[in-house]
Amino acid sequence: MTAEIQDLEVVETRKLASFRTVDAIEPIVGADAIELAVVGGWKVVTKKGEFQPGDPCVYFEIDSFLKDGVPAWQFLVDKQPKMQGGVRGHRLRTIKLRGQISQGLILKISEFPVLEQILNPTLTLARDIEDPAYNCWFGLHEYEAALSPQDLNLNLVLDVVKWDPPLPAQLQGMAEGLFPSWIRKTDQERAQNLKDEIFGYDDVVIPANAELGRPEIVRRGKAQRFARYEVTMKMDGSSATFFHRDGEVGVCSRNLQLKVCDGNKENSFVRMLFDSGLDLVLPQFGNIAVQGELMGPAIQGNRENLKDFTLYIFDVQLIDEGRNMTSTERLAFVNELISRGVNPNKVKHAPVLTRAADGSLTWRCHIPDLPDASWFTLEELGLLKMEDLLAFAEGPSLVHAIREGLVYKREDGTFSFKTISNAYLAKEKD
Ligand code: AMP
Ligand code: MN
Repeated sequence: MTAEIQDLEVVETRKLASFRTVDAIEPIVGADAIELAVVGGWKVVTKKGEFQPGDPCVYFEIDSFLKDGVPAWQFLVDKQPKMQGGVRGHRLRTIKLRGQISQGLILKISEFPVLEQILNPTLTLARDIEDPAYNCWFGLHEYEAALSPQDLNLNLVLDVVKWDPPLPAQLQGMAEGLFPSWIRKTDQERAQNLKDEIFGYDDVVIPANAELGRPEIVRRGKAQRFARYEVTMKMDGSSATFFHRDGEVGVCSRNLQLKVCDGNKENSFVRMLFDSGLDLVLPQFGNIAVQGELMGPAIQGNRENLKDFTLYIFDVQLIDEGRNMTSTERLAFVNELISRGVNPNKVKHAPVLTRAADGSLTWRCHIPDLPDASWFTLEELGLLKMEDLLAFAEGPSLVHAIREGLVYKREDGTFSFKTISNAYLAKEKD
């Protein structure tokens, strides 16, 4: 299969639209008409009085692309329209109003009849019945229809897609097809959506209510207080995956597998495969996928000021075992790639936060010796709550004064998340 990029329909797995509850309302100093709604880890500017704490709402995350023609958000499309793939719409982005950062959009559920239907208790009962027609009607996957409303991904129901900046010309290439199903994509969930999973250490007891005839409910804490994390710097380039599988060597961008052929040899991803030596070395490791951020001239403004393209590796997948390497394995693996001939100027590990001998924290792209110095509990880093985590995202990158953010991976390899710098988001251009 060969296709032009625009012919391929990419399904977004990130939950851009979801049912939420307004946790709190906070005033904005000096503003009469607007206030802040707190929704999980997010803060969103709203019209004063529109929402009360405890109100249900539907939340749209930043980078949602809201298409033309839906009354509830048409005011945004009219105010600031944008085109994506020939469709008019509005891109939700981080904005600053009266010095206050606002991220995303909340709307009343009553603005969307289809959402009221999903929440309607008589219809909810139907969820227990295996009725594919019901599920398809709402555009929900079958397995999703069995979930509680808070867990539903409403992207399809509301036809919300992700805004993706157009790929620079030199990264575009002829696509072989969609991203292979047997490799996990490199997407990371934002910390703001994982408050309980990160900081919810303690059990929450909801007392019994005799009137309602309800027994005591204990919600088990979802987070592990003593879990250790690897913290890497989030590099702001383009996601790249290089793989070897059953004799085939291939390369992918975030959503597509690219054609490896003569006609595509000027494409920056394809060039990296051959210039780095990965094409020769990867097959020595069996079925494997190496994932990193491709950085360099004309990619995202080349924030690290590189003269030549560099791949910063952050994940390695053992395809047959169906798992990612642990941090320790991965750091050793990158060293091994280089000792087998991969060009160390082109392929590095993403900067890892490490404790130096004098106790200070530094970033290192090469760790031949001390994996233990690069594991931290959140408490050790002074990160006790969401605000601390977001503040820790702020700081310089390798050469830029404002980095994009950080990525945390738990030692057991089953949980990870990202924190994006608000300074970065506030300055972000399209
Ligand atoms: P985003 O670009 O905000 O959707 O965040 C996820 C992307 O961050 C991944 O697809 C990677 O391409 C990229 N990324 C950059 N640096 C890292 C890192 N150190 N660890 C994991 N992902 C990273
Ligand atoms: Mn990115």
